[in-house]
Amino acid sequence: MARSNEQLKILDKRKSEFVSLVSHQLRAPITAIKGYASLLMEGFYGKLSVKTKEPAERIFLSSQRLVKMVADFLDLSKIEQDAMSYNMTSVDIGEVLRDVATDFVFVAKEKDLTLEINVPAKQKFVVSADDGKLRQIISNVIDNSIKYTPKGSIAVSVGRDTAKKTVAVRIKDTGIGLSPDDKEHIFGKFTRGKGGQKENTGGSGLGLYVAKKMLEAQKGNLSVESDGVGLGSTFVIEFPAEGT
Ligand code: ADP
Repeated sequence: MARSNEQLKILDKRKSEFVSLVSHQLRAPITAIKGYASLLMEGFYGKLSVKTKEPAERIFLSSQRLVKMVADFLDLSKIEQDAMSYNMTSVDIGEVLRDVATDFVFVAKEKDLTLEINVPAKQKFVVSADDGKLRQIISNVIDNSIKYTPKGSIAVSVGRDTAKKTVAVRIKDTGIGLSPDDKEHIFGKFTRGKGGQKENTGGSGLGLYVAKKMLEAQKGNLSVESDGVGLGSTFVIEFPAEGT
């Protein structure tokens, strides 16, 4: 028994190493494809005809999806090998939220969605976190809220819960919402909601799993509220408030 357990552990480690190796090898060529597709689209190699514009855009969007997927795979294998390192500093999560959300204003507009950013200008919301990873996580959740919202709006905000001594970022959308069953499962590895699979066929179901694991490693948390299918969702990122 002990021996087969040991063998399973070795196998698991090899699997993680394999995923990591393959992902590393994929990263460079996919990033190159994305870069060239972007240059093509921007007309760097000459103006595109109406007929060639659409395929160029499709190559760009698909490669963008692949880049993100490979990054998620790499993060996953690091988490599973316990090899993810966190550079913890005091971070104003309000500032991070404002920065990241601002980058998405245009993306939302392209889908005719409004993106409202509610971050009080003069207040600081300091937490202990890895700045880069926090940006990656918030970006992932906002990206999802746009992906899973066919019409309406996204509103992001930050606030303090003095009783719980926490700081919470809320990302609220008027999108497809979640059934009680989906709410329980979407944070699992490779799991997707029923509505999510219809709305966006290309997902891997890894983003929220990776985000939650990375937040927990920083003493934070990720949860979701939704009144049901079709009624929107609110993702909540929470941290203990610094100095409390
Ligand atoms: P992916 O988006 O690649 O499927 P994620 O792990 O990011 O993977 O999300 C898992 C699932 O959670 C999605 O497939 C979708 O069903 C659901 N989901 C995530 N964000 C939202 C949202 N804002 N509104 C409704 N469903 C969501």
